[in-house]
Amino acid sequence: MAPSPTDPLDTLTRLAAQMSTRHSLEELLQLVAEAAAQVLGVRRVSLRLLDPSHTQLLATARSGEPLHRETIEFRIGEGLLGWIAAHGEPLCLAEPEADPRFAPRPGMGPMGAFIGVPIRSGAQVIGVLSAIDPTVRFDDHHRQLLELVAAMCAPHIELARLADLIQLDPLTGSLNRRGLDQRYPVDHVADADAAPLVVAMLDLDHFKRVNDRHGHAVGDLVLRHVTAMIGQALRADDALVRFGGEEFLLLLPGIDRERGARIAERVRAAVAGSPATIPGGQVVTTVSIGVAERRPGESRDAVFARADAALYQAKAAGRDRVVVA
Ligand code: GH3
Ligand code: MG
Ligand code: MG
Repeated sequence: MAPSPTDPLDTLTRLAAQMSTRHSLEELLQLVAEAAAQVLGVRRVSLRLLDPSHTQLLATARSGEPLHRETIEFRIGEGLLGWIAAHGEPLCLAEPEADPRFAPRPGMGPMGAFIGVPIRSGAQVIGVLSAIDPTVRFDDHHRQLLELVAAMCAPHIELARLADLIQLDPLTGSLNRRGLDQRYPVDHVADADAAPLVVAMLDLDHFKRVNDRHGHAVGDLVLRHVTAMIGQALRADDALVRFGGEEFLLLLPGIDRERGARIAERVRAAVAGSPATIPGGQVVTTVSIGVAERRPGESRDAVFARADAALYQAKAAGRDRVVVA
């Protein structure tokens, strides 16, 4: 989006209002990158957050075309962005390529002038907000504006991260019950024109044996592996929920029973065809799946119960199979 000459105060006021309504972390970062581009009057802004281990700066949002052909990550201390993250100080350079801290990357076009500021949460640097432009000469005023955007967005970034965190199961990374309730409220009843939704209930077969034979820690490892295999067989909009210990719920939006059954079958085959590697060997696991398509007028618990009944049939019929309600 091309920057338009607006009053920075207008942009900042709008950003403050936008950030205070609920957003995903991704949406929030995009709002910040675009507002930063507007207040500086430049095209290219990038916002990078530190990864959880605080060693890498991950490309998370940007305004304008990317400077690099591929997504590039910077380690702390590496390049201009890495220097800002390591030192927690802003950097403003008219000729960034001439700076000894500059780390050239393959396929990179000319930058123009560079400005970057740390995003801080308390004493900790959590990311870097930076801009480049061939025509603007960045000065103290630009730096102050960018530092203000960084200071404004930091608490919102932390809140959005926390909201993500409390919805995820720490062992498997799938949604937990809180995440499920967020996506599909417990009191939801489908009306006549509700969007199509297929629900699948999935349970690992004979998982007690894995624990009994190899111990609970290896059981955890297998559980993580199976979850990863399930995730790979799903589409981007599908949700994977850890419903109980080794029982999962799949939410498959926008499709009918037949397509839902096909995805469930793809999940089943992916798990059965991919043994988990454990210390000293491999463990083959299978899953049983019950599939139900939501009906008009049906409550959340009612469609879950039908998927669960189908799962029970899949177990009774010999496991490692999909049954459609
Ligand atoms: P079935 O094919 O009938 O589902 O047999 P099963 O052995 O999988 O079923 P059952 O429900 O009897 O046992 C589930 C086991 O899953 C029991 C429990 O110890 C184990 N389990 C549940 N959550 C976890 C977990 O987080 N980690 C590990 N390692 N085991 C778990
Ligand atoms: Mg089981
Ligand atoms: Mg079970």
